[in-house]
Amino acid sequence: MAELAPNMELYAVSEACIACDACCNDFGDVFKMNDDHTRAIVYAPVAKGKYDPWDIIYDCPVDAISLIKGELPPPPEGKKPASAKKKEEELPPSEITDDRPWEVRWAEVSSLIESDWDRRKRYGFADYFEETPTQYILRFAMPEKVPNHPFKFKWNLPDKMPDYKVQVRFPEPNKIIVKACLEDLRIKKLCGVANSFPDRWYREIQLPGPTKGFKENYNPQEKCLEIAIDKT
Ligand code: SF4
Repeated sequence: MAELAPNMELYAVSEACIACDACCNDFGDVFKMNDDHTRAIVYAPVAKGKYDPWDIIYDCPVDAISLIKGELPPPPEGKKPASAKKKEEELPPSEITDDRPWEVRWAEVSSLIESDWDRRKRYGFADYFEETPTQYILRFAMPEKVPNHPFKFKWNLPDKMPDYKVQVRFPEPNKIIVKACLEDLRIKKLCGVANSFPDRWYREIQLPGPTKGFKENYNPQEKCLEIAIDKT
């Protein structure tokens, strides 16, 4: 790696990143999201003095950002890291009624192997595409179960996955972007801990032809998101 100029600083992002986008939105000249939208990456050093390093470090809700080259000033008084603010948010009560020790409940499921299809749902890759004479139809099977992990049981998290918040947009007539984000704070705690469990997914899909409108429908019983797109 090339030597860093003395007037530059360099940051790093750890595996704790939950791809929340905060650093990419607030410091877009330093961070960007990786191609599958699962983790932020640092793509450029930044000139010393351009930012207070604590503003960058404190921006991350899971303390995944660190300054690896450059001088870190003393922590500012009166500012709190986003991770501390997050911990202060009130979490809704657990719905678990099974009062056996969490170790027993975890032991019951610890050897079960999750299907690849269920894992794909958490990345937005459990999708179906259909074409009719007038429409393109995209369906996404959304996650149904909170993945098993010791902390799921230790923290009394439910088995049923809460619904994701979904955004659909068309940056071009034949390109659709779908974003889905988990909002339940209890479950999001597990995202920084369990493997293959980002708190959001992002898909950018090229359609075979131009479009003129769409309708989005989410079926919470079947956990299926359907987007019916009208062809021009
Ligand atoms: S979790 Fe931290 S490092 Fe990851 S995108 Fe959010 S702010 Fe950036």
